[in-house]
Amino acid sequence: MACARFTAAVAFGLLFAADSPAGGQSELPRTYIGKPTTAEITSADLMTRLYIFADDSMMGREVGTIYHLKSTAYIEGEVRKLGLVPAGEDGGYFQTLPVYRYYADSISTLQIGGKSMVFGADFFPYATAEHRISLDGVPVVYGGVLTDSATWLPAEDAAGKIVFFSVPSTSTPARNFQFSARSRFARSPLVLVGSLERIPQSVRPFFAQRMVFLKSDAPLLGPPTTFITTNVARTLFGTLDGLVAGMAGMALSGTIVLHRAQAPARNVVAILPGSDPALRGEYVAIGAHTDHIGFNNKPVDHDSTRIFNMITRPQGEDSPPAPTLTPAQALRFHAMLDSVHALHPARLDSINNGADDDGTGTVSVLEIAEAFAKANTRPRRSILFVWHAGEEKGLWGSQYYTDHPTVPRDSIVAQLNMDMVGRGSATDITGETRSGEFTHGGPGYLQLVGSRRLSTELGTLIESVNRRAHPALIFDYSMDANGHRQNIYCRSDHYEYARYGIPIAFLTTGGHSDYHQVTDEPQYIDYEHLAQVAKFVQAVAAEVANLDHRIAVDKPKPDPSARCVQ
Ligand SMILES: [Zn+2]
Repeated sequence: MACARFTAAVAFGLLFAADSPAGGQSELPRTYIGKPTTAEITSADLMTRLYIFADDSMMGREVGTIYHLKSTAYIEGEVRKLGLVPAGEDGGYFQTLPVYRYYADSISTLQIGGKSMVFGADFFPYATAEHRISLDGVPVVYGGVLTDSATWLPAEDAAGKIVFFSVPSTSTPARNFQFSARSRFARSPLVLVGSLERIPQSVRPFFAQRMVFLKSDAPLLGPPTTFITTNVARTLFGTLDGLVAGMAGMALSGTIVLHRAQAPARNVVAILPGSDPALRGEYVAIGAHTDHIGFNNKPVDHDSTRIFNMITRPQGEDSPPAPTLTPAQALRFHAMLDSVHALHPARLDSINNGADDDGTGTVSVLEIAEAFAKANTRPRRSILFVWHAGEEKGLWGSQYYTDHPTVPRDSIVAQLNMDMVGRGSATDITGETRSGEFTHGGPGYLQLVGSRRLSTELGTLIESVNRRAHPALIFDYSMDANGHRQNIYCRSDHYEYARYGIPIAFLTTGGHSDYHQVTDEPQYIDYEHLAQVAKFVQAVAAEVANLDHRIAVDKPKPDPSARCVQ
């Protein structure tokens, strides 16, 4: 590999060996174009793939954006080249998720007594459906205090009217403001809520543009809500003191225009058919997630952010935010930053590349697919490769896939999930024990979660495959403890399979200070470690796929619709 060496670690090593930003290892280049991949799972192949998949041009691969389309187009192109069998929809490799973008159109107007209110400042519509609501001549009525249903207007008095709710200044400005189609306000064309000036500017973008995963069991929504300021509400009712539900407000005019548009979100699904005609109708699923958390519009200095987090937030987003450094930490911070900036200039960064999360899992699944596809012999059972979308939003893709599987759900005998499998060095804080002590990585480090939760046999099989591996991995089960604070059994895609009684194993090299930060970039990945994990997962998949019996489920199956409990 043509990689620049990280010399600062050497120069600085005596004083700050454990603090060097590359964790004492060589630093890789920030951008890199690798050689074409080979049949084998190699660190070079994984590097070639990850520098493509986690490049800045992917802009953080947030689901619902064109960048997620771009990232999944790369996966699709690769599995097509490998000749895998498409197992998405319509004979292709993609499975589209029902993800929509909801937003209010700024052409919306609101006038009171002929005076125009300002969109966004005086009124702020919250989009829940495609809607065009004319306000002209619709009576306005006071509905009560939003947080106190005892004060609410009866259903028959609200029907056909615009209903305004006040919110006490001591209450959260925007909670439980959306009424359902079964609520008493279902027959009102619009609900107004008078707390707009208290909704922080920082959260308004999430209200203005919402990405929604439409589940089949989603509750039907009632009237849309538009927030107005207390001042606008006062104009409407003359005063806000002593209002009683049912009191009439001034007439409004104008139109609220709400939109819903399909947003890009798709799983990639491909099959390697098994070699045994009697068993190829069963599948060993291997998965990872393609999406990440996108980019922001507030660039920060990459190196100082990275070093600040190394010192104060060893688990990245999983550590509490640290506003300031102690004097001792500040000394370390400046020394480390100087050593890094001596090697390369400062640079601004605003893209969450998601190299480890879950670029590493994604490219590992691709490398495993390539290794299986180009091997002389195939496993007896089929291998089902699913690259999930929207994991970061709440396991959308895996939920959708398991609710709408493209092979019979009961034919999936196990699922192996890789999420963040490229770190786990001795300087990474990979997680915590149940009692709250930090865990560290090291050579061959791998966390296993859930591998015995449905099938003792799967857990035992994974260990026996490892005993035959050279070098063997070192398993850390501490994150798998029941009731663990970090709850990671419920936090990645494998759980959506487990809830249907499919034995799973979640494999990860664990957390680190770049977790969900703009600093999660391909040059900080340990590609040898990554290759070792990917090869191991391939070996486990082959072992399960070649068993003379279906792997046994000996633990109770959960209720698929119940909340996950670790
Ligand atoms: Zn993540």
